[in-house]
Amino acid sequence: MALVRRMVFFALRWSFLPWLHSLWRQRGKITILLYHDIPPEAFSRHLAHIERHYALVSLGQYLEAAAQGRPLGREKYLVVTFDDGLRGNFALRELFARHPGKVTLYLCSAIVGTRRGFWFLTENLDSGPLKRVSNAARLTALERVGFRQEAECPARQALSDEEVLGLAAVADIGSHTRFHPCLPCCQDDEAAGEIAGSREELETRYHLRVRTLSYPNGDYCDRDIAQAKAAGYAAGITVDHGVNDQHTDPFRLRRISVNDTTDINEFIVKASGLWGALTGVFVPPRHGRRPDPSPRKPPCA
Ligand SMILES: [Zn+2]
Repeated sequence: MALVRRMVFFALRWSFLPWLHSLWRQRGKITILLYHDIPPEAFSRHLAHIERHYALVSLGQYLEAAAQGRPLGREKYLVVTFDDGLRGNFALRELFARHPGKVTLYLCSAIVGTRRGFWFLTENLDSGPLKRVSNAARLTALERVGFRQEAECPARQALSDEEVLGLAAVADIGSHTRFHPCLPCCQDDEAAGEIAGSREELETRYHLRVRTLSYPNGDYCDRDIAQAKAAGYAAGITVDHGVNDQHTDPFRLRRISVNDTTDINEFIVKASGLWGALTGVFVPPRHGRRPDPSPRKPPCA
């Protein structure tokens, strides 16, 4: 299966469709890529491709231009983001340092700097169904399998305080909430604590300015956007597939997940937006379409 997959991406890459699609859809636009935990060797190859084919910019540069209503130029602009704050990100520091301040790392403020774990990394856990129940029900179900979000794990999963500070010297830091809940599944006070609390914790602990929020799992609702604005964020990043321009709602910025792939052909096809465009024909967008909380159902149902 893996071989078939590699062959599909190889054929697609050399069909030049990614090149055509990129020229058509990405020129004069901002493409935001999403990573989580990619090995340095693979990211080095990705970065080499990005440097050849895109103009790497920071999210701040884009937001500033958009706030002023300045149209973008004719280049293909690209922003690189990493979600979660996994400890493996520190190995990428030298690569980030080639473009100081351009990469944005979204950190879970109550997990980085601790030995706490990410709930979705719990062994033998099917995390999908737990993203569709109330936050309280999710936490109860996790306790049944031995996970408590405030408890420490034998092996550190997240960046340490020293690593965060080392990365903050070469990259931009954003918020990914405190414990990575599914925000639309939270009650109002829970969501406010996660959204505003994360920004406060990161700014206080690391003496940083945190301007943007990445919604965990890309899930958000209108209430979460209102809370992000009230907490002082300048933008919210989703995983709704697509590119951005100066007219895109800054609290619904679109992003392309490249799945931490080590296959350069797959990366090129996905980063061009072609893969999302092809699969989007068959799979409707998952994120940002949830109705607001209803008293008869779990808040995010
Ligand atoms: Zn995440």
